[in-house]
Order: sequence, then structure tokens, then C-alpha cells
Amino acid sequence: AVLVGRRARSQRKWRRAVEVLREFEDGCATSIGRLKQVVDAMAVEMHAGLASDGGSKLKMLLSFIDSLPNGNEIGTYYALDLGGTNFRVLRVRLGGKGSMISSPQVERQAIPRELMSGTSEDLFDFIAMKLKQFVEQEDDASEKKPDEEKVLGFTFSFPIRQMSVSSGILIKWTKGFSVEDAVGKDVARCLEEAMTKAGLNVRVTALVNDTVGTLALAHYYDEDTVAAVIFGTGTNACYVERTDAIIKCQGLLTNSGGMVVNMEWGNFWSSHLPRTSYDIALDDESPNCNDQGFEKMISGMYLGDIARRVLYRMAQESDIFGNGAYNLSIRFILRTPLMAAMHEDDSPDLREVGRILTENLQMPDVSLKARRLVVRVCDVVTRRAARLAAAGIVGILKKIGRDGSGGVASGRTKGRPRRTVVAIEGGLYANYSMFREYLNEAVAEILGEEVAQNVVLRVTEDGSGIGAALLAAAYSSNR
Ligand code: BGC
Ligand code: MG
Repeated sequence: AVLVGRRARSQRKWRRAVEVLREFEDGCATSIGRLKQVVDAMAVEMHAGLASDGGSKLKMLLSFIDSLPNGNEIGTYYALDLGGTNFRVLRVRLGGKGSMISSPQVERQAIPRELMSGTSEDLFDFIAMKLKQFVEQEDDASEKKPDEEKVLGFTFSFPIRQMSVSSGILIKWTKGFSVEDAVGKDVARCLEEAMTKAGLNVRVTALVNDTVGTLALAHYYDEDTVAAVIFGTGTNACYVERTDAIIKCQGLLTNSGGMVVNMEWGNFWSSHLPRTSYDIALDDESPNCNDQGFEKMISGMYLGDIARRVLYRMAQESDIFGNGAYNLSIRFILRTPLMAAMHEDDSPDLREVGRILTENLQMPDVSLKARRLVVRVCDVVTRRAARLAAAGIVGILKKIGRDGSGGVASGRTKGRPRRTVVAIEGGLYANYSMFREYLNEAVAEILGEEVAQNVVLRVTEDGSGIGAALLAAAYSSNR
């Protein structure tokens, strides 16, 4: 009788855990019908954001980049890339004639946590210091005179309202940054001031979002590139828009008739997005509550924590994870790279899952059956993220008439189907193969095989940094 009672109890707890998974899975459903609604909503919001400031949660920010680098750029340029987790300094040599850009010298550093929520002066002083160290090292080794003016592209991967190619005011922080006194300031001037203080002779000729840098580099190598998307700590996209479609800026004239628009799609929202109680709790506890709703379902900063929340719920409902499960209550303890490693564990006994749970989460005795549930949770989180990301990309293609919906004729030039290239950068796409596969698969599913054949998603490594140097070169004669 004791045994029977124990077995019944054990069955009950498993049933509860599986129920939690099922409910979550239902909440995350991304049928093709729903994805198409997200595609439409994205295209509609793009129109609204272009019509007026504040017309949409999509800010559709002007970059003032009206022509992308054409390959004639020559010389040595610097770039500084302040993004999510790391910041990088690059030195890039451009040889003109569209030549391959030889591997730039790069230095990468983690941003000290305390600087992410300190003062703007401390943050920019730190960056200027690092740049100075890098420049001095390089100067020692090169023929260049140390006091010669250097030209720099500043990749600043947060929403800014630009006044020109080389200036822009920070609208708000994302991705866990909260250097409050920087909001409302021109970040290019903040950087220049810090550099002057550090004794550096550097001019910022391009202030760009990471998406814009990526687009510039990808377009340099392939002129069919029309958009760039980042899937990293955060997520965002930019694309080339016709100036006459940018209604909120009437009379905007450019030589090319187009301009790169930074969508800030991380803040996209639609009632068609499959949102669960876990997403709501994550948002409530974030420093930027009610902002970046799309980003919080998709990007690398958050995926691990969504999974953690579901696992924690399971642990509260049953004791299937054994000792140590209280660690699941710790926010962000499960980072997305670890989640990816568990998700992609293809050993029959899920050894890697066991190792990560033991070593990183101090959960030493999770049974094989429970480890399988962990993998299922990772799968649901990532599949939803990747499919929504795919819908976002197709939304852009729809807006610019490259989704095949305008009929065959509009998709052809001189009888041949027109190629459409979308550049992609970011660790989530580059390193998490399940995310990448689900995304690629969903793009093909939404577009249909025939149209999808002419759409290329291309990984552009280091685009945000090298692209900024390219743009700094292209715009260095301004001002
Ligand atoms: C920022 C964007 C950026 C993206 C990817 C988002 O949180 O708002 O400006 O492009 O992250 O780095
Ligand atoms: Mg980056």
C-alpha cells in the first residue's frame, strides 16, 4: 500500500510538471496563420511609425545615411562599438576599389557592470581611456604621427534621435543599461569630450546604430542587401526606405532618394504576439517595464530567463528537479548560451544538460526524465522566438514589396527574379543553431518556397564595427 501510494504521488507530480509545459506550449503557439498576422502588423506599424513621430511603438528613426559606402573609401579609420555585453575598438584599413577589407585589428572588452548604471561621464571616460590605450599601441607600431587627427565611426546600439549623420540624442536605454543622465544628451559629443579630455585627437564623423553598420558592410560586398537585422543581446532591424515614404519628414531630399531607417523593432508590439504569464512577469521585473516587448520575447538577453521562469514554476508545482531547485528562483542565472548548449545536447543520456544543471545551477540530481523536460522548455522558448523573428523579417520584405505579394512581375528585373539579401549579425543567430534553423524554416514557410528561393539571409560578421568605420570614411568630408 505504501508503494502504491508513492507511485501515485510520483505520477501526480509528473503530471503537474507536464501540465505546466503544455500550458506554456499552448501560450507560445505560432501557427502559420498567426505568424502572417504578425507580418501584417509589422508592415502596418512601419507605415504608422513613418507617418508621424509617436505614431507607432516602432520609432522608425532616421539615420541620415542616404548613400551606403561604394567601395572607393581609402585610408585608416577607427570604430568604437558600444552594444550590449561587450564593447570593441577597431582599426580598419580601406584600400578602395571595393577591395576586401583586411581583417581589422580589434580589441574586445566586457563593460564593467557598475558602469552600466553609473554616470555618463564615467562611462564615456572609460571608453575614451580604452580607445586611447588601443590607439597608442597601434601608433607605436605604425608610421602614423600620433597627433594626426583620426576619424572614427561610433556604433551606439541604443535608440537615438539623430540630428545628422554624426550627432544624435539618446532617447532611452535598453538591454539593462541605465545611465540616466545620458538620456537626452548627444552621445557623439559626450564621446568627443571624453576623448579630448583623454588627450586624443579624434573626430566622430558617423554615429550609427549596429544594424546600420551591419547594413553598410553587407551592402559593400553585395548590393542586393536591403536590410540588416541583429539577434544578439538585443534585437533590431534597419532597411533602406524611399524618402517620399517617410511622411513624417516632408521635404526630406537625398541624392539617392532613399535613407536608412533604424526601426527599433525591439519595441514592436501587437496583440497577435503569443504572450504568456512568464513574459508578463519578466517585463514587470525589468528596469524598462512596458518597453521592448518584442525584444523580450526574442533576444539573447531574455531567452534563458524565460526558460528559467518556466522551470521554476515546474519546481514549485512538483519536486521533479530534486535538491537545489531553489536556484531556479535566481533571475538570469540561466544565460542563453547555456540554454543553447542544453537544447543542442544530442547525447542519448543528456549528459551536457546534466553537467550544466550541476555546475552552473547547482542542481546535482536531475533525473534523465526531468532533463528531457528541461530540453523541451528550451525548445518551446527558442522556437517561438525564432518564428516571431522570421515574421518580423518578412514584415520588412512586405513593406518594401519584396515578399512576393505584389505578383510575379514586381519581383522581377529583366525577367529574372530579383534577389533580396538580408544581413544578419549577432551571437544568437550565429551561435545558436536551433534558433537559426527555426528562423530560416519559418521564413520559407511564410514566404512559400518560390519566393523564399530569392531571399538570402546572410551572416555578416563584425558588420556593426567594420561598417561604422566604412561609414566614418564615406562621411568624413562632411562638416
Ligand atoms: C537597441 C537597438 C539595437 C539592438 C541590438 C536594442 O536593445 O534598442 O538600438 O540595435 O538592441 O543591439
Ligand atoms: Mg553588438
